[in-house]
Amino acid sequence: DDGAIDTGRNAKFARALSEAKVDHLFALGSLGEFPSVDDDERPRLLESVIESAIGPTDVWVGVGAPSTRRAVAYAEDAEGLGAAAVVAVAPYYLHPSPAAIDRYYRAIRSAVSIPVLAYNIPSLVGYRLEPALVHRLARDGVLAGVKDTAGSLESVRSFLTDAPAGFVVVPGDDALATEAIRLGAAGAVMGMANLVPPALRRARAGGARRGRRPSDRAPGPGRRARRRRARRPVPLGRQVPRPGALGGRGRVPRPVRSALDGGGRGGPEPARAATAAPRAVPEAVTMRALCVRPPAPGAALEEVPAPALAPGSVLVDVLECGVCGTDRDIVAGKYGAPPAGVPYLVLGHENLGRVRAVAPDVSGWAPGDLVVATVRRGCGEDRFCRANRSDECETGHFTERGIGGAPGYMAEQYVEIPAYLVHIPPALRTVAVLLEPLTIVEKAVLMGQKVIDRRGTTPGDPPTRPPTALVAGTGAVGMLAALLLRVRGYEVTGIDRHDDTTPAARLLARIGATHRNAAEGVGVLGDARFDLIVEATGAIALDFDLVDALGRNGALVLTGIPDADAPPTSIRAGRLLRSVVLENQAVIGSVNANRTYFEAGVRDLTVFEERWPGALAAMITARRPLADFAGVLAGHDPGAMKTVLTVVPGGATGA
Ligand SMILES: [Zn+2]
Repeated sequence: DDGAIDTGRNAKFARALSEAKVDHLFALGSLGEFPSVDDDERPRLLESVIESAIGPTDVWVGVGAPSTRRAVAYAEDAEGLGAAAVVAVAPYYLHPSPAAIDRYYRAIRSAVSIPVLAYNIPSLVGYRLEPALVHRLARDGVLAGVKDTAGSLESVRSFLTDAPAGFVVVPGDDALATEAIRLGAAGAVMGMANLVPPALRRARAGGARRGRRPSDRAPGPGRRARRRRARRPVPLGRQVPRPGALGGRGRVPRPVRSALDGGGRGGPEPARAATAAPRAVPEAVTMRALCVRPPAPGAALEEVPAPALAPGSVLVDVLECGVCGTDRDIVAGKYGAPPAGVPYLVLGHENLGRVRAVAPDVSGWAPGDLVVATVRRGCGEDRFCRANRSDECETGHFTERGIGGAPGYMAEQYVEIPAYLVHIPPALRTVAVLLEPLTIVEKAVLMGQKVIDRRGTTPGDPPTRPPTALVAGTGAVGMLAALLLRVRGYEVTGIDRHDDTTPAARLLARIGATHRNAAEGVGVLGDARFDLIVEATGAIALDFDLVDALGRNGALVLTGIPDADAPPTSIRAGRLLRSVVLENQAVIGSVNANRTYFEAGVRDLTVFEERWPGALAAMITARRPLADFAGVLAGHDPGAMKTVLTVVPGGATGA
């Protein structure tokens, strides 16, 4: 025994646990002896565990370290390898100040898009994480939960007491598990009721009941687990089963993989198959759908074949869809493409629906569940798409529902596989149609922060001032960026071409952001320079001018899509490029968003609702029935943030 990690046995172990339907595996925790695992051993170990965990079991990864920089690097690596969440033990050995602990968790949060949990284990760390600090970080959207291994029920209770809605407390002491789960279930159900779908809630209640019977506490793999844990190498702990503890099933690698293994562009997609070949589905009836035939301009409500529930899929009733500039461009004939073999494209990508039926082989979904579907479907050909990161597709062979090559959501129904479906807590029903545009922002802000953070070179001293951000454009994407950046601790300025009387300007004031009318250009900003600029207009001249407002070491993230056929623009290129070089600036683009950003978005929508109740609802400036599509798509009311077309009137609002 040379002390090397036996990845083969770890893989088998992980497979056995997931076959026993454990919900989450926790790799590189205390029982995984993480401090004794070398940096070069970590990726290999995690890869084998994550690969071996079959759906719906996902893997949480321990990333705590004495230094923030190392913890951030571990977290980034874990996310890259497919972790569903990271669990960070407080910085150990050294006793950092509360402010330093606060910065430690915020740094990890800003480096990844998956949930971050704190890990309180005073006996090994050397001090106790204060519940007040943990709860504040939770309220700011930094922490999704805490694993508490302090050896007392009082400690578990202290984390449950006054915890924000949806905050997850996972007890880590085996001896206390049953009581703590009972305590946690009782304390968390009120908050979790908002986050955990009914089916999962039932499953969790069942799990807690089972937990009280000692004979059920250690199923086969669990017993093996303990025996193996006695010796290294088993850097893997068994997570206390808490089905859907993070408000959903997290990543579900298997269905994605099997879907992509089908080959071809995007693999077998039930909805597309049904639409493309209605004759093969004799029971198919028709449904109303808003159809376009690009490059011909215009849109029409048509009766089209309804998709049929297929094995492995979920049938969803669409409640409502948001309308954005992309939809208007498609209706104008500027881009968009129907699925192969179909003469029309069903429009719409910003969606909210309610599950109508679930195929017998699908778990984790039940009729009545609220759901938002992702937009892009990967090509299955490259490593990014195979990792369910189709937003970074390398081949360009992806399809996008409602935009190119796949039917959209402005229809009565759609069918989709669970890998592309995201659970929506009932409390978010009236605002969840904003999730898809929020995912654009989640990704853009994370990308910008990664550039600004310049991993590995950030000095140890904390910044002497809060970071500053400029949001260009106050449509839904810009406003959601403003909310997210405020939550992330930025001082925010929003610019548009209107005065202070619009709903957007009033909303900016409410969240403590500044509004400026930049109709005459960015000169209105004076000498102000910003660390991060999120552009959400697609206005070409403005985009170049924004570099003038970019601070040293700053990042400008472009999300608006400029018109490719726009006439040439005159810019002061020398001055612009000189600024980029001499001030270490980065100009980056960000498009689309994968599932992890949808899950991050659900958490942040909840944070927004708690911090500024009603702000999201104010962003939906109009709801119109689908039949009114023509007027909605033709004109864009200045000052309007988001117009929504309702497929089921009152379906989202209950009105
Ligand atoms: Zn791809």
